[in-house]
Amino acid sequence: MPSKIAFTIWRIFWDFIPNFANLIIRRVVTNDRCPRCRSKVEGSLHVFRDCPMTTEVWYLKLWSTGGHTKSQDPF
Ligand SMILES: [Zn+2]
Repeated sequence: MPSKIAFTIWRIFWDFIPNFANLIIRRVVTNDRCPRCRSKVEGSLHVFRDCPMTTEVWYLKLWSTGGHTKSQDPF
């Protein structure tokens, strides 16, 4: 696994992603809603799993590759 991907997974696991839910705690922003769907708080799970826009991107990516991703091309 490329180190960039491993580091991103580590940041997601420890919730170190600068999403709006984290930025509102640091008082960087005043609104924690997802800017894409505007229906939920933009936490890490929402960004990478639950957001309808994210789900569509994952679906299109998997559909375009036939369900397989290249080992050196994560996106
Ligand atoms: Zn969303």
